[in-house]
Amino acid sequence: MKIKRFFAKDMRAALAQVKDTLGADAVIMSNKKVTGGIEIVAAVDYDEPKPKLDAKSAPTNPFDELTDDKVSLAAKNVVRTSRQKTNEVPADSLQALLERQQSRMDKQMGRSVEDDDLPAWARGLEAPSLKAKEAPRQAVFTPDADKSRAANRSQLELDAMKDELASLRNLLTHQVSSLMMEQKKRTDPVGAMLETRLLEAEFSPAVAAKLAGLSQHYSPADLVKALPQSLANMLDNQGDDIVRRGGVVAFVGPTGVGKTTSIAKIAARFAAHHGADQVALITTDHYRIGAFEQLATYGKIMGCPVKQAHDLNELQQILYQLRNRKLVLIDTAGMGQRDMRLVEQLDNLTSNSALPIRSYLVLSATAQRRVLQDAVKHFQRIPLSGAVLTKLDESVSLAGALSVLIQSGLPLSYVTNGQRVPEDMKVADTLTLARQALDALNQPEYQGVDDNQWSDNTAYAFE
Ligand code: GDP
Repeated sequence: MKIKRFFAKDMRAALAQVKDTLGADAVIMSNKKVTGGIEIVAAVDYDEPKPKLDAKSAPTNPFDELTDDKVSLAAKNVVRTSRQKTNEVPADSLQALLERQQSRMDKQMGRSVEDDDLPAWARGLEAPSLKAKEAPRQAVFTPDADKSRAANRSQLELDAMKDELASLRNLLTHQVSSLMMEQKKRTDPVGAMLETRLLEAEFSPAVAAKLAGLSQHYSPADLVKALPQSLANMLDNQGDDIVRRGGVVAFVGPTGVGKTTSIAKIAARFAAHHGADQVALITTDHYRIGAFEQLATYGKIMGCPVKQAHDLNELQQILYQLRNRKLVLIDTAGMGQRDMRLVEQLDNLTSNSALPIRSYLVLSATAQRRVLQDAVKHFQRIPLSGAVLTKLDESVSLAGALSVLIQSGLPLSYVTNGQRVPEDMKVADTLTLARQALDALNQPEYQGVDDNQWSDNTAYAFE
């Protein structure tokens, strides 16, 4: 065996030196970085097969302390060692080193490694996430994929532009309305302050603006007096029309607003005027357990018949049976305005033009303005003859409910202010309701952050 030490500026030059000096059969015994380059110790053995570098033989190697990697420059089958005669690639050959490096690179690049390199449990395992990621990479180079990617990109850009425009518009609207408000504060301070206060009291912007506009026509002192009547005039009031007109009347509305209780109150009111034998009750509510029993109890107390209709056909038959009654009140299933069954129920009520049913929307004054607005929007799918406003006794402010009634143009007939049947129901008095709604302006929670400022402003605006 011939052993030699080589020095060169880099590995490539060092290997070239080894090959030139010892030939292609040389074995690299060690390599290490030294100042100014690489030092390689190489050996060549022509006669004997290279000794195995197992754990036992390793200490006999004189270059042990230098050994990092042991590499043979020989091409496969050139060195006639016993191991290479079997066509096996020696573990320490250059080829083996290159294969190991290739495998290492493959691993780093996420390419699959030979199953033999894996633990038994992992053999044959597929990498779904990698495959999933690779799929679009392959598609990237097809013209169609290129087109759809470009289309997606332009769609995203378009969406981003739309969002930006929308936020600019919002900003502009906000700025303009602030400017307008500022201008209004300068030119019409009373109107501006009144509008702010009405908004704080939960009137809708449209109603607040309309009422605040009155400041142009009244002195501050007269404005205070004019407000309730002006608000009342905006409301459509048709009074005691159910009791006055009779007929077939259905109460519709969201769940729990007080339809059944209000029907009982109206029935009692009608019975008091025309006799219990002139009124009858029907429920079409077959969803809620106890719905029929609740109405039947009221009917029993008043002494009027109570029927249940499961479908339109049954309703027609019952109405025919009750044709001698002056007033037939229909209690419908309370349904959230977003319940799809509502559409079916409302269609049933209106689909037969031979049935002269007038529908009244029952709304709770305790609901938020936007919820009431939503209810009106959904129930207006059928022609509504009027409204009943319930639970005034539980409501903090009537501003929202009155705003919704004004904006929808729905005539108000009755209000209820308690659970007692029949006492807690009144024919709507719009002036009283307007006063009640405007009372909110005097409540401390609507008087802004600074109470002192509010008192000063009030003095300035209304005295
Ligand atoms: P429906 O589901 O719309 O038929 O509502 P109900 O008539 O069953 O009433 C639901 C609840 O509201 C019951 O407990 C009623 O007693 C109550 N209720 C109805 N009207 C009023 C009212 O004007 N004021 C108060 N405080 N409660 C009421």
